This record gives sequence, C-alpha cells and structure tokens, in this order.
Amino acid sequence: MKNKKRIVIALGGNALGNTLPEQMKAVKITAQAIVDLIQEGCEVVVTHGNGPQVGMINNAMAALSREDSNQPNTPLSVCVAMSQAYIGYDLQNALREELKNRNMLDIPVVTMVTQVRVDENDAAFLNPTKPIGQFMTEEQAKIAEEKYDYVMKEDSGRGYRRVVSSPKPAEIIEIEAIRALVDTGQLVISCGGGGIPVTLKGNHLTGASAVIDKDFVSALLAKELDADFLIILTAVEKVAINFGKPDQKWLAQMNVEEANQYIEEGHFAPGSMLPKVEAAIEFADSKAGRVSLITLLEKAKEGILGETGTRICK
Ligand code: ADP
Ligand code: MG
Repeated sequence: MKNKKRIVIALGGNALGNTLPEQMKAVKITAQAIVDLIQEGCEVVVTHGNGPQVGMINNAMAALSREDSNQPNTPLSVCVAMSQAYIGYDLQNALREELKNRNMLDIPVVTMVTQVRVDENDAAFLNPTKPIGQFMTEEQAKIAEEKYDYVMKEDSGRGYRRVVSSPKPAEIIEIEAIRALVDTGQLVISCGGGGIPVTLKGNHLTGASAVIDKDFVSALLAKELDADFLIILTAVEKVAINFGKPDQKWLAQMNVEEANQYIEEGHFAPGSMLPKVEAAIEFADSKAGRVSLITLLEKAKEGILGETGTRICK
C-alpha cells in the first residue's frame, strides 16, 4: 500500500526556456520546485513539453540535410526522441544536484525515452493543424510537399509552414518500465513532448508525423500510475473565465461539470489553456478522489497545500 501522495507534474514551456543557456538556467528553478514537493512527502513523476526544443532540433536537422546531400531528412519522431534526451539530460542533472544539496541521497533520477501509440484512424490525421518548423516561400513549400510528403499551410500572411496532426495518446508503450521505476522510489522523467508518436503494426512500431499534446499524455500517465494529483504547471497562477476581458475572474476551483460548461462557453483558448483544462477534466473525472491542479511552477508547493492555483475535482 502506498501512503505518499503520488503526483504527476507536467512542466510547461517556461519551466525549460527557449535556448540552450536559458534551459540550463530554468531547470535549476524547476528542480527546486520539484524537490520542494518531494520534501513535502510527495512521490513525484515528471513530464514536460518540448515546443521550442523540438523546433530547434527540427530546423538544425533540416539545415544538415540541405548542406549534405548524403543526409536524408530526419523524421519528426526522431526529433522528438532527441528532444526528450536533451531535456532529460538537463533536468536529470539539475534534480540530482538539488537532491544532493538537500542531503536527499536515496532518490535516483532517470529519464525514460518514451513512445506513445496513437491510433492511425484518429480523426486528427485527416486535418493536420499544428504548425512546426521554419517559414517557407510558396516555392520552397511546393518542393517540401513533393520531396517529403509534407502538408504545408499558409500561416496568416507570414509564409508557408509545415503542419502536422495532433492525435490523442492511446497507450504509453514503456508504461510498465516507468511503473517499475516509480514504484521503487525513483524520480522518473518521461513522456517528454507528449511522447514519441508511433503507430503499431504487428510487433513493429513506426514513428508518426505528429505531435501529441503533453497535457493529454500527462493525464493518461497519471491515470496509469493511479496518481492522486495531476499538476499542470504553466505561465499563469490560475485559470480564468472571461480571460483578458474587463470582467475576468480567476478560479480557485471548478468541478468537472462547471469546467465542461466553461469549455462550451469558449473561455479557454485552443492550443494553450483548452488542452490543459481538458486534460485536467479527464484525470479528475476518471476516479473519485483524483484532483487536477493548474498553476505556476513557483506556486506548485502552495498549490498542493491548497493555497493557490485552480483545482479541478469531480
Ligand atoms: P505551456 O507552455 O505551459 O503549455 P501555454 O502558453 O500553451 O503554456 O498556455 C498557457 C497560457 O494560456 C497562459 O499563459 C495564458 O496566456 C493562456 N490562456 C488562455 N486562456 C486562458 C484562461 N481562460 N485562463 C488563463 N490563461 C489562459
Ligand atoms: Mg502549450
């Protein structure tokens, strides 16, 4: 029987920064917030986004294949794998150091390269919406479509960009390995960038040209690990209704029914707050007693103590 509260914590963009030096700095603060929770007696499992990092890797690999004709194009799934390792490396080191600084010597830290199966019949594949990589001219876009089978879309007058699908996560392939590590008290970083999207044929997994939302995969991971809390850390302390309007109201709590009502009324921006609230609902609604929390990284500890953030309960 477990007696510690188990928390899946999803790190947003501001926990990692946008460049190599920014990330080095950001992870130190992130590690402090995470170790604070462990010191409060929580069992923590970490997931994270990868928007800027996977963009950077994708652009670097595209430049490589432009410069060297022997280097074929790097699939997006491989770029996600690279981003998991790169972010995991920095986070893992920062966490290890922070634990040692506080004399917490019995918690090993590990990053799991994680694949997440998506359904190839997911309706999202029929309508790619997520822009990634560099802007291109119409001519460059045509070449990319022919050469790499990319779907290119014009992006509000700024040029053409590749768009990929954002299907729902169906299964975390490495879940049993993650569970074994978490159950033996290790601090695990997994499902980075939503996981490496793969489809399954027989025993073979194939990388998919897609990006899985990290908030949705975090909800799935939290359910699979029977967590007590899903904490989504982002750039706002609380979720608001009438966000950015004169009658804006910050919410301390909403139940699943209220949250669904607010979604219907269009209070949460698609692509930023909407997937977080949807993921929060999915976890909170999955079993009695499960709580989701959306707040700032710096407020994670206060949030878990019930002092701030927006709580989503059944
Ligand atoms: P992350 O990198 O953590 O995923 P995002 O930028 O994707 O962060 O999403 C968080 C942002 O969502 C906030 O900074 C805020 O500007 C925006 N947002 C949109 N709608 C709302 C809302 N109703 N309440 C609070 N924030 C909102
Ligand atoms: Mg986001």
